[in-house]
Amino acid sequence: MTEINRRWVLVRRPEGRLKDSDFKRDDQPLPELGPNDVRVRVTHLSFDPTQRIWIQEDSYMPAVPIGAVVRATGIGQVVASNNPNYKPGQLVQGAMGWQDYVQNEGFTEFGPLFPTPQGLTPEQLMGAYGANSITAWFGVHDILFPKEGETALVTGAAGSVGSAAAQILKAAGCKVIGVAGGPVKKQWCVDVAGMDACIDYKNEDVAARIKNLAPDGLDMIFENVGGEILDAGLANLAIGARISLCGAISGYDSDTPVSGLKNYMNLVIQRGTMKGFVMLDYIPRMQEGGMAVAALAAQGKLKVEIDMQEGFENIPATLRRLFEGKNIGKQLLKLTDLPLPVA
Ligand code: NAP
Repeated sequence: MTEINRRWVLVRRPEGRLKDSDFKRDDQPLPELGPNDVRVRVTHLSFDPTQRIWIQEDSYMPAVPIGAVVRATGIGQVVASNNPNYKPGQLVQGAMGWQDYVQNEGFTEFGPLFPTPQGLTPEQLMGAYGANSITAWFGVHDILFPKEGETALVTGAAGSVGSAAAQILKAAGCKVIGVAGGPVKKQWCVDVAGMDACIDYKNEDVAARIKNLAPDGLDMIFENVGGEILDAGLANLAIGARISLCGAISGYDSDTPVSGLKNYMNLVIQRGTMKGFVMLDYIPRMQEGGMAVAALAAQGKLKVEIDMQEGFENIPATLRRLFEGKNIGKQLLKLTDLPLPVA
């Protein structure tokens, strides 16, 4: 019997906030396995704010074409293989897309499908040991150069990258102030993720609270949100402050550009530096970053909460969760349980 590959494809470039109608189901029969092909059943998908950029426009990656399967990283199990590099039963990672199967000679847009380290669950592989923890590691250690006793602000602090960055800064001996939306996340940042304090930007005056919590100013900012929240941090810089620009999610799900920064002149006055980075540039150093975060996780100093959704039909809604502030920690979706039968 011909196997069906369920797929979600992009119908149009979103206008304003994401809508269900930006995507449609386009299920297709799976072709026969070619002479050098591998067939991977996608089991877990990662949801990342950058997917909103990928479906909108060319950026550091080309935009997802209209009519194409939506780009997404994930994990899958090899269920059949004519390719000597892949064995049935093996777990692999790569750009899987919003579909049930990847079938080709072992390539995705991010390069070859790579076998995952043995003994780790999908939650670990995409959580504490995953790309977002490694992003946080390089965004902290390659850009902020934290010193013991310094004070850092982390925005998007209850999210995947933010909560990892906060813990990495704590492990470096810094005082960490988070910024997150709502009282539940505020409490979580302190009680679970171990931040020294957290500011609820939905209910508090962020600039005033930073001034109160860091009277000598911020030595570092790990920035995930941008806009007014970044501006509140810029108003409170210490001399020689460093800012790691990881993202600016406040502007992603909208047609309106984020408003200009009012307090950037403080970078001049305080002799500050602000530097952006893209994780893809660190792919040659993945092993180094992976070992660093694994060591912290093994010491119990890096814990990543997993927010696991389920069901193929819930894929578009799960992407929206990121922009509705519904997730705490890493947003994943499970398509099927492991292990799967192999051919
Ligand atoms: P995440 O933080 O786990 O999830 C998104 C969170 O962003 C939401 O839960 C929400 O938290 C917050 N948010 C959403 N809309 C917002 C708005 N309008 N204003 C303020 N906060 C808003 O996502 P993530 O995967 O860890 O990504 C975090 C940031 O890192 C993003 O900017 C992403 O683009 C960036 N990133 C960059 C790289 C890189 O290579 N530079 C790699 C990975 C990720 P609240 O409820 O607290 O608002």
